[in-house]
Amino acid sequence: MKTDNKITYGFKTEIKQLLNIMIHSLYSNKEIFLRELISNASDAIDKLRFNNISNPDLYEKIDKPHIRISVNDKKKKLKIIDNGIGMTKEEVINNLGTIAKSGTKEFIKSLKEKKNIKNNMIGKFGVGFYSSFMVANKVSVITKSALKNTDAVLWSSNGDGKYSIENINKKNNGTEIILYLRSKENNFLNKDIIKNIVNKYSNHISIPIEIETKDKNNNIKKWNKINKTKALWLVNKSEIDKKKYIDFYKNTFNQINDPLIWSHNFVEGKYEYINLIYIPSKISEQIWNRNYKGELKLYIQRVFIMEDIKKFLPYYLRFVKGIIDSKDLPLNISRELLQNNNIIRNIKLSLTKRIIKMIIKLSKDKDKFKIFWKEFGLILKEGVVEDLDNKDYIIDLLRFSSSFNDDSTKVISLKKYISRMKPNQNKIYYITADSFKSAKNSPHLDFFYKEKIEVLLLFDRIDEWVINNIIEFQGNKFQSISTSDNSVDEIIKKDKKSNIKNNNDFTVFLNRIKNILKDKIKEVKLSYNMVDNIPVILKTDKNDISTQMFKLLTSVGQKAPKVKYILEINPNNKLIKKIINIKDDIIFKDWVYLLLNQSLLIEQGFLNNPNKFIKIINKLLI
Ligand code: ADP
Ligand code: MG
Repeated sequence: MKTDNKITYGFKTEIKQLLNIMIHSLYSNKEIFLRELISNASDAIDKLRFNNISNPDLYEKIDKPHIRISVNDKKKKLKIIDNGIGMTKEEVINNLGTIAKSGTKEFIKSLKEKKNIKNNMIGKFGVGFYSSFMVANKVSVITKSALKNTDAVLWSSNGDGKYSIENINKKNNGTEIILYLRSKENNFLNKDIIKNIVNKYSNHISIPIEIETKDKNNNIKKWNKINKTKALWLVNKSEIDKKKYIDFYKNTFNQINDPLIWSHNFVEGKYEYINLIYIPSKISEQIWNRNYKGELKLYIQRVFIMEDIKKFLPYYLRFVKGIIDSKDLPLNISRELLQNNNIIRNIKLSLTKRIIKMIIKLSKDKDKFKIFWKEFGLILKEGVVEDLDNKDYIIDLLRFSSSFNDDSTKVISLKKYISRMKPNQNKIYYITADSFKSAKNSPHLDFFYKEKIEVLLLFDRIDEWVINNIIEFQGNKFQSISTSDNSVDEIIKKDKKSNIKNNNDFTVFLNRIKNILKDKIKEVKLSYNMVDNIPVILKTDKNDISTQMFKLLTSVGQKAPKVKYILEINPNNKLIKKIINIKDDIIFKDWVYLLLNQSLLIEQGFLNNPNKFIKIINKLLI
């Protein structure tokens, strides 16, 4: 049947590397090659079903979709056959050898870091087809596209850096993957083993997976279905136990860990649809990619249509995984139409509400919520800005680190904070910094430690932005403790002025400093809210940019106005009490320079001229 039109090609470099890894892999879980090939077959059938609806004239009709597994004991061959969309010659070349998908590179990179293939990596990075080389020393693909009037092709490779392509005859559309098993891998010819693997990984596939029984002459007698074809989300809730939900999740979304929580609903009323939504217990790294599509699969009457989370949920919920199956959407819906569709809008609103309810439920379980917040808190916070309708619910869910705790775990809710406010306190105090450590050790905190007033420690990049969008919680405004503010006076209610004997002295003192620092500083003033051993501290004015915001903006290459500081002086500090008496203007100037620069160093973490700073310290020490 073959014609003599065989052409040999070389694999793209990354694929060569990938094949080399697969062939020499010591991965103990080689059986997953079958899961990957079945999942490709199932995708191919989904694609054809979809095209039958959207481009009915161009494609052959799919009659009885099936995935078949055929075993040849003598020749040690294993075939995986489908009647899906197949591939044209160009598609074969592109999909199985030429174009290295972005996943290939990431897979190889991740392997270099992790040294060995881990459970879910192969499916995750979309390199499934090549996993067949873990068990086979030669793989052939016979495929015919369901596009009308296309020729079939045979693709073949020993995994050695080359592959060949030739025309071949094949009657029906679809793909046959033929694995020539290595002698060590002959157990994959055993039908019971095959059935077990299908059971373990592919039971959720809603297309029949069949294996043949043969007669004495080795002819195929009939095909027997080995999977339970009903898609799990269509099954009555009372018939599904916990394990089934978890297995479905792990297999469908390539997860190793159990989900934190799930919810399965048959929505009735104006629009009917089913949803099965999971909240994972581990974030997927791809979530930070710019165009992350998420893993929420849209089915219309059991036909897989697409995966694009932005269409069905606000983007800050992109960490959920699940299925939506709608009866009302037209099967041939285009992506553009999806955007302005009432049904979609309705699904989006109610699904968002449902997921927020799930998270609220999760928040009642301290341990699970700790995991949730660690993994997804950063993303959920985006919702404060993105989702005005549900903003209040999200604000209730926020968790923070606190100056009252010694570790950085974010467990304090705003409600909790409010419940432990001091009498007369009506602001929520916070500090923003680059890290937990620098927040926790900030000199701004010393006074609050002393007075036992709780301060929220914010050190995620997004925090300043989030807080600016909250403004207040249950009537309590947010107040940065690095911003000049005297609300603390209300709480501690001390009569400070009586502490200071000679207020006039200070007026002269402050004016002397102001004269020296004229252009460098916005204001100089006394502060009574400082611990004794800190002489000076820098604050920013209410409406001015903060140090942290300045750092954030400049770190992403944006222009930011220079920070204008207020120098606050502690009249009760010993050093200040000494400096105030210095008459010599030159020495006084050196001290002022020292005070300003030590506070700048603490506030910014660096000095523009450290050399001068040290020289002046040394001069004053003599
Ligand atoms: P992924 O499935 O993540 O895209 P794979 O390595 O498993 O990655 O498959 C590569 C590509 O080869 C698929 O995207 C698909 O285009 C094509 N392909 C693989 N198997 C089949 C098949 N049985 N029928 C049609 N196309 C297939
Ligand atoms: Mg695949």
